[in-house]
Amino acid sequence: MSTKRKALPKGIAAGEFDKAIKELKAILGDENVLVDEVRLAPYNKIMMPVPNDQHAPSAAITPASVEQIQGVLKVLNKYRIPVYPISTGKNLGYGSAAPVQRGQIVMDLRRMNKIIEVDPDLCTALVEPGVTYQQLYDYLQEKKLPLWFSCPAPSAIAGPLGNMVDRGVGYTPYGEHFLFSCGMEVVLANGDVLRTGMGSMPNSNTWQVFKWGYGPTLDGMFTQSNYGIVTKMGMWLMPAPPDFRPFCIQYPNETDITKIVDALRPLRIAMVIPNAVVIAHTLWEAPCTPVKRADYYTGPGAIPDAAVGKIQKDHNIGAWNVYAGLYGTKETNDANWKIIEAVAAGTGGKIITAEQSKGSQALQYRFDLMKGKPNLGEFGLYNWRGGGGSIWFAPVSQAKGSETLKQMKMAKDILAKYGFDYVGEFIVGWRDMHHVIDLLFDRSDETQTKNAYACYDELLHTFAKEGYGMYRANTAFAEKVAATYGPVKRSVEKKLKKALDPNNILAPGRCGISL
Ligand SMILES: Cc1cc2nc3c(=O)[nH]c(=O)nc-3n(C[C@H](O)[C@H](O)[C@H](O)COP(=O)(O)OP(=O)(O)OC[C@H]3O[C@@H](n4cnc5c(N)ncnc54)[C@H](O)[C@@H]3O)c2cc1C
Repeated sequence: MSTKRKALPKGIAAGEFDKAIKELKAILGDENVLVDEVRLAPYNKIMMPVPNDQHAPSAAITPASVEQIQGVLKVLNKYRIPVYPISTGKNLGYGSAAPVQRGQIVMDLRRMNKIIEVDPDLCTALVEPGVTYQQLYDYLQEKKLPLWFSCPAPSAIAGPLGNMVDRGVGYTPYGEHFLFSCGMEVVLANGDVLRTGMGSMPNSNTWQVFKWGYGPTLDGMFTQSNYGIVTKMGMWLMPAPPDFRPFCIQYPNETDITKIVDALRPLRIAMVIPNAVVIAHTLWEAPCTPVKRADYYTGPGAIPDAAVGKIQKDHNIGAWNVYAGLYGTKETNDANWKIIEAVAAGTGGKIITAEQSKGSQALQYRFDLMKGKPNLGEFGLYNWRGGGGSIWFAPVSQAKGSETLKQMKMAKDILAKYGFDYVGEFIVGWRDMHHVIDLLFDRSDETQTKNAYACYDELLHTFAKEGYGMYRANTAFAEKVAATYGPVKRSVEKKLKKALDPNNILAPGRCGISL
């Protein structure tokens, strides 16, 4: 008789599933094949406005080597059971550690957590999927290596490989993470192990220093996709600069976003400001200050502008708060500082230096992130409304003031229609800005949850009509977001899937890709 399971992979009978589990246990050991509901609970904690059931895994497995992954794939191909690989599994607000479709087996790679190599001369690292940013930070500190990396806000618990394959971002000059990765090792669905770039060349020692190799560059195919399981990643580290000068510039009005972006763009493109700049709205800063929404507004609908204005005054927060830094020698930073002062004065901004920021939680965690020091300061966002609901709405904008203002107004209006606040920021930006909005809602409240789903849907389709596409999306909306990019791209993605994963066993549905 087969065991009773909460979720099974689509189209797989319980008896077949049990047989597969037995074979997986023979490869990984009983303790590394989780089927018990209590042990599966961490893989089903989502923040999205859909029922947990939609993303319930049938099992979770924790392989410890490439060879074990190859063995697992043989079994999964035989039974046609889909698997959803995660690295550190902290994709919070984008799907967390839960599979994209109900019944997929989560492949949790946390036991593969070696920092394989750090080259202090070339400033490179080669890491496995389970390595966390905190682990890498501690390693560099212990070895007294003056090297920095770029990390996302939940850096203490998240990891460079998982973040990079979802094309995440951070806050140092290396903030566009995929751009600063160099070389991957990928296990394909048939068990072949591909090394990208120079990694395919026997005896090469340039895998982590030259991205392209010969012929087509394949790395991008393994980001925001389901064409392989990434088991190693090279990344570039930056030398700690002799002088680091972080600063914040606060602006009083919401419409100031126009002049901020137009003033910063030339400085970013010319790399006078080298890091991934953040322009954060009051309501992003407030919860991290920390300020509670309920202390300012308990009525229906979105928080009114007057209450937002009061928060700004009470807590010295700008309508927009620009975070950037100078990374150089004292001499170069002294020279560039004059440019920053002139820009702030010319645009009506108030500069806050590191010295003046002492005692401010919001400024401190930002300044730490700008030098790649892991922390969890941004989790304050979840105290704003409470109830644990969060989905990131993240359209890309040109780095032009008129465009950012237009996107901000569009988003704020749609959010308000459903009773939600505009908690947004613009980040990265040489020529683009990732416009990142945290749609915060109370997941224990059925109406709010329904509204959050409808609101995201409207945001997505209204933005798409204007030609604005997402840089990244949560798993509940993967299919809808993929559809906004048109049929030809999707048809090519499907052909690639068919060629590389004919049994459709690698995370079908991730980023809308499936057979
Ligand atoms: C308060 C807060 C602030 C945040 N700020 C940021 C931010 O500044 N920047 C940012 O980028 N994100 C941010 N996030 C989102 C997210 O938490 C981070 O991007 C985080 O780094 C992703 O989780 P992870 O690193 O554990 O990756 P994982 O969850 O392990 O991986 C992400 C996804 O990539 C795929 N994947 C993972 N590993 C593999 C593999 N080995 N092979 C194939 N596919 C794989 C899976 O589909 C997985 O779901 C924030 C979240 C919160 C809650």
